[in-house]
Amino acid sequence: MCASNSQQRLFLQPFWDYILDKFDDRVGSPFFPVLLAFSGYVLFSFPFAVADLLGKRCHFFYQYKIQKEKHPTKMMMCMCIWKAVSNHLVYVFPVVTVIWFCMPPPPLPATAPSVCTLLGEVFGCLLLFDFQYFVWHILHHKNHWLYKKVHAIHHKYIAPFSWSSQNLGGYELMTVGFWSSTNPIMLGCHPLTAWVCNLLSIWMSVNDHIGYDLPWSLSHILPFGLYGGALAHDLHHQKPETNFAPFFGHWDLIFGTSSFEDYRT
Ligand SMILES: [Zn+2]
Ligand SMILES: [Zn+2]
Repeated sequence: MCASNSQQRLFLQPFWDYILDKFDDRVGSPFFPVLLAFSGYVLFSFPFAVADLLGKRCHFFYQYKIQKEKHPTKMMMCMCIWKAVSNHLVYVFPVVTVIWFCMPPPPLPATAPSVCTLLGEVFGCLLLFDFQYFVWHILHHKNHWLYKKVHAIHHKYIAPFSWSSQNLGGYELMTVGFWSSTNPIMLGCHPLTAWVCNLLSIWMSVNDHIGYDLPWSLSHILPFGLYGGALAHDLHHQKPETNFAPFFGHWDLIFGTSSFEDYRT
């Protein structure tokens, strides 16, 4: 039986009180979600970069590699990291600074969300983002001009690797960043939800690009291709006419753009 809302809130309240007490100034800054997302990108990508560099010497990961004949070089990795750093310096930080001066964020609430509220809000934000990016992604593949000018940069690598998740043009990064930061506000979410969602989206995005079809991945746990994951997105980079949704599989299944049947048989 589900605990009451106040009991669940008590579960997160000590953590939230600690955050407010120790880090109020820092986490209240609009730069915090950006730093959180960038740190997440580095932390989540790093283990798979090591696995890529070790190649066959790391049999544990290599056995699950999707495109075994393709290996990212150190130069390719450095170029992706530089792209992510320069995108943040040139686009993200200046835009966030302007928004911060024009619309200072409200003070953080004193109470934590309940666990059910947090999970529900995170799921809602991810579902909304998944739909927004699915529409954007299809449009930027079907329209040749948009593909060439905006999305082609992300398709530079036919065999994705962890660092390549943020190999994005400025316009694509800003669009994705806009949805990630405004969706929790639009849905009236708690700031903790926004941070969890931000971090989870980065993890899911890196996971889409790792190039390893790990047996414990959510895509193997959830049935009917409901979760895309690394294999689905790897196939998108190989055959860009399928698997447009970033996280879940339902929109591709509904619109007949899923390669779920191909890769499960
Ligand atoms: Zn990709
Ligand atoms: Zn694409």
